[in-house]
Amino acid sequence: MNAPSKTPASSKLIAGATGDWELVIGLEIHAQVTSEAKLFSGSSTAFGASPNSHVSLVDAAMPGMLPVLNHECVRQAIRTGLGVNARINLQSTFDRKNYFYPDLPQGYQISQFKSPIVGEGEVVVDLGEGESVTVGIERIHLEQDAGKSIHDQDPKSSFVDLNRSGVALMEIVSKPDLRSSDEAKAYVQKLRTILRYIGSCDGDMEKGNLRADVNVSVRRPGDPFGTRCEIKNVNSIRFIGQAIEVEARRQIEILEDGGSIDQETRLFDPGKGETRAMRSKEEAHDYRYFPDPDLLPLVVEQAEVDALKAALPELPDEKKARFIRDYGVTAYDAMVLTLERESADFFEAVAKGRDAKLAANWVINELFGRLNKQGVGIEDSPLSADQLGGLVDLVTEGVISGKIAKDLFEILWSEGGDPRALVESRGLRQVTDTGAIEKVVDEVIAANPDKVEQARAKPTLIGWFVGQVMKASGGKANPQAVNDILKAKLGI
Ligand code: ADP
Ligand code: MG
Repeated sequence: MNAPSKTPASSKLIAGATGDWELVIGLEIHAQVTSEAKLFSGSSTAFGASPNSHVSLVDAAMPGMLPVLNHECVRQAIRTGLGVNARINLQSTFDRKNYFYPDLPQGYQISQFKSPIVGEGEVVVDLGEGESVTVGIERIHLEQDAGKSIHDQDPKSSFVDLNRSGVALMEIVSKPDLRSSDEAKAYVQKLRTILRYIGSCDGDMEKGNLRADVNVSVRRPGDPFGTRCEIKNVNSIRFIGQAIEVEARRQIEILEDGGSIDQETRLFDPGKGETRAMRSKEEAHDYRYFPDPDLLPLVVEQAEVDALKAALPELPDEKKARFIRDYGVTAYDAMVLTLERESADFFEAVAKGRDAKLAANWVINELFGRLNKQGVGIEDSPLSADQLGGLVDLVTEGVISGKIAKDLFEILWSEGGDPRALVESRGLRQVTDTGAIEKVVDEVIAANPDKVEQARAKPTLIGWFVGQVMKASGGKANPQAVNDILKAKLGI
């Protein structure tokens, strides 16, 4: 694996009017737990149902209703903790966080405050070719999501939809170890990859299933941490980057004008490209946390943790290391290939028993490139791993040239079919028959006597002839043979 790089901090500093500043960022990520039922009730967690159709008496906080812990959510939190190399706390507790909001009928949120189920861990974040940074995880705790207030459907009234009320969330709190917006974005991406591999959260930011509270402060390099502001509920990786950049600029301007930063909660407005104050620490709620008397302390057995660990799939870092070791691909290619479990599986199916570097090249540059352009996921790829593997075989055997292979890729993408049969039926076979190539070379030479003179004086012009011959052969002539024959005929 990559050792965490000690990149000189200077490369990430922000230049202010009075000198350089260093960014300090810590993220609190809310990840919706993948589970059939809610954290303390049997209601469905399905997305997109009509309002208030997945609400049990527990979720609606009817008097006398008691929460019953859904142990699958506990298992998901433990799996996630194991996926970020964290300590699993065999005993944890649920607390009530008291506040009023129309979409919170209980008047409190059940959350883990003092004793979370997952303690300290770490995530290795890839930054680029061979470079990485290790980000500490402070804790992961389980909590309930709130419902949703809807303000845009009626001029006079607001509505409340409680379908989301009580759905399990994991709050994944990082240490303030991030030093740039790029690092923060890469961290969220990596965390999302890990969650998806494990299957504990689908990471769908558009549905709000993964959202981040972004804590930002600035300081002079070497100084203690500055006062932070927390930007609430940022729901895309791009916005996380933008919010950090504008918030850092805002803080630097205030500090350089001799002011000080108020610790406050802010909101990012992507339209205006600014953050706005929501509430200050002075107005902050006193949540009057106390252990929920309706719930016993959560106790898990070490044997259960061990069993969950043994059943974990191969995680992105392990897979990446194996790809570098077994397939000889670069660290960067291995990172790209392992971003999604399905993509990694696809690559392995293409690479097995073939030239793995050539396979990686076709999977990343041609297939992923095309899928991204069309906005298609790997699971809906028009080309199967068998088809792409067949294409790679034809290139390796010299049956088709690299250029023709791209044409074949197009045919497979839009029409499908068997690669080898297509090469025969469409006459795509590379021509290595020297007699046939010689004939074309003779024609090109005969048609361009002036160019022949020039090429004899300046041999690099042979490139022009190669191009003409390739064109005349419909791209099917073997380029090496064309070169050799041209050199002989032109006498260069
Ligand atoms: P709180 O409970 O008030 O939210 P925490 O100590 O739990 O405070 O910190 C919340 C988040 O803020 C964590 O992700 C942490 O890494 C981050 N953080 C703490 N101090 C700073 C700082 N000075 N600058 C930026 N982020 C910080
Ligand atoms: Mg917090």
